[in-house]
Amino acid sequence: PIHSTAPASTPLLSTRHLVRRFRDADRPAVDNVCFELYRGEILALLGPSGCGKTTTLRMIAGFETPDSGSVLLGERDITNVPTQKRRIGMVFQDYALFPHMTLAENVAFAMTHLPRKQRHARALEWLALVNMAELGERFPEELSGGQQQRVALVRTLAAEPELVLLDEPFSNLDAGLRERTRKEMRELFKKTGTTVILVTHDQAEAMTMADRIGVMRQGRLLQVGPPQAVYREPADAFVAEFLGHTNLLEGEAAGLSAATALGPISLNTQAHGPVTLSLRPEDLALVRSEDPDSAIIVDREFRGHDYFYLLARGDSRYCAIVPNHDPLEVGARVRLQTAGEASVLPDEGRSQTQH
Ligand code: ATP
Repeated sequence: PIHSTAPASTPLLSTRHLVRRFRDADRPAVDNVCFELYRGEILALLGPSGCGKTTTLRMIAGFETPDSGSVLLGERDITNVPTQKRRIGMVFQDYALFPHMTLAENVAFAMTHLPRKQRHARALEWLALVNMAELGERFPEELSGGQQQRVALVRTLAAEPELVLLDEPFSNLDAGLRERTRKEMRELFKKTGTTVILVTHDQAEAMTMADRIGVMRQGRLLQVGPPQAVYREPADAFVAEFLGHTNLLEGEAAGLSAATALGPISLNTQAHGPVTLSLRPEDLALVRSEDPDSAIIVDREFRGHDYFYLLARGDSRYCAIVPNHDPLEVGARVRLQTAGEASVLPDEGRSQTQH
């Protein structure tokens, strides 16, 4: 199921039933992928290694030809248009700045649409946008990885592409720098109105950077929607688990509530009969209890602002995230109390809970 909640106007980019099968593979690397992207939007393609994200991106860029399906830029079919004529910019993991050129020269090099005389001044303006104007005469080797990444991005933007594609752009940066760079890049994209597709396997990166997230698995696009929607209303168990920890529960629904092993739980939507539910760990509260039917804390992880608890009750395992005051110790017995709504997974999800 594709859940699209983008505004209704002409999309900047549409992919229509994209399929790419590599020789000898038993299933397509990209399998009937359809989505639309609107001007100024940041879309993250999120999924585990090998799910087809990069191949999808390469078909949009023109490095790879689909076996079937099409790519539209506005209303123009660009499926067979060569890469260099697509007005699509791509930033790779390894930056690929020219080592023998200064930063300003690297950026100016991309501005083939401007008269030569204007390029240097414009390059410095672009560098100023990422607070690097005063480094314009430096060479790439004199910069940190994060700075090189910013220049590579600015160089791509300076060519004024219709669309920018980023493939795991932060994977070479260490954790702290990565978080800062994500924030800066999102601000830069919003300031310049840039339309972006970002490929990542990191759910935190997708959530913090993107306006919408497309979750992929085994070549298929399972769900597209704003981060809050894919997190709170996942299309199936795979999406629920890929976007963070969750408790998958079987229940018997009657309207806005379901009977489960944890007692009655409020639902995010009306349902009737047998259902599979996703209950996020932050929606479970733990109450000390000596009741023989209570759960036992088998592990806990201190995460600064909260604790992540792993619990056992009979053969079932649960997880809960609780603010860090009054922590509970491993071995403590607790009653599991729901403190939020569970999401009903659409029917297709029921067959996939065992993956
Ligand atoms: P990763 O994050 O690891 O790059 P991905 O989601 O981007 O993964 P793809 O790189 O698109 O996935 O690969 C999808 C599938 O297609 C994988 O099984 C991969 O091995 C296969 N594949 C990709 N490129 C080729 C190729 N040129 N020839 C054969 N098989 C390929």
